[in-house]
Amino acid sequence: MIRVTENLREIRDLLAKAAADASRDPASVKLLAVSKRQTISAIYEAAAAGQIDFGENQVVEGLEKIRAVADSSLKWHFIGHLQTNKTKVVAEHFDWVHSVDRLKTAERLSRQRPASLDDLNICLQVNVDDETSKSGITVTDVADLAKRVVGLPRIRLRGLMCLPAIRDDFESQRKPFACLRRLADQLRASGIPTDTLSMGMSGDYRAAIFEGATIVRIGTAVFGPRNAT
Ligand SMILES: *Cc1c(COP(=O)(O)O)cnc(C)c1O
Repeated sequence: MIRVTENLREIRDLLAKAAADASRDPASVKLLAVSKRQTISAIYEAAAAGQIDFGENQVVEGLEKIRAVADSSLKWHFIGHLQTNKTKVVAEHFDWVHSVDRLKTAERLSRQRPASLDDLNICLQVNVDDETSKSGITVTDVADLAKRVVGLPRIRLRGLMCLPAIRDDFESQRKPFACLRRLADQLRASGIPTDTLSMGMSGDYRAAIFEGATIVRIGTAVFGPRNAT
């Protein structure tokens, strides 16, 4: 039995402590509970303990959970790779997409977002590690994509997201996060306002908070180990 309520209390304390150590307001760091491959009952328990924001990385699994949990006070964040043929479900059911890395995806989300809903919040995923290439745009493409996305209707560019390779020590963990922060600073200086840095997971949230993370995406430290796929 995983003790989600206790884990949540503990991780909230740790996040607040990291923020204080970084001379930041603890309220400026939002906890996104990554519920991918976790049970519905674990999500209920987290929600009962006051958790509002949940992250999913698969469209079908995410939609199943949103429907099963059926709680309109919760916010759902899509954080996985988004294929263009699955944008409609995401546009209709999620509140955030952290992983936009092509103009086409943003255009489809913009077109498919129902006008009856609030604007869909968007982050651009940046590949800050270029060589170990996963998803994400390169550092040099950020400004151009941001410029094209910012004017699209029904979606709102909130900021940048990264998912760097795992590093063990604090100082090396900080580097990719610092890179993302500088990119956001550059966007702001060029007249594209953003308020979100989505960065940091169970193993490196402290370094991310030191570099300015406003959303940390925490899975295992809240819910325990994930189920196998
Ligand atoms: C799974 C996942 C997380 C959470 O990882 P943990 O190490 O379990 O905290 C965060 N971000 C993304 C994009 C993920 O896919």
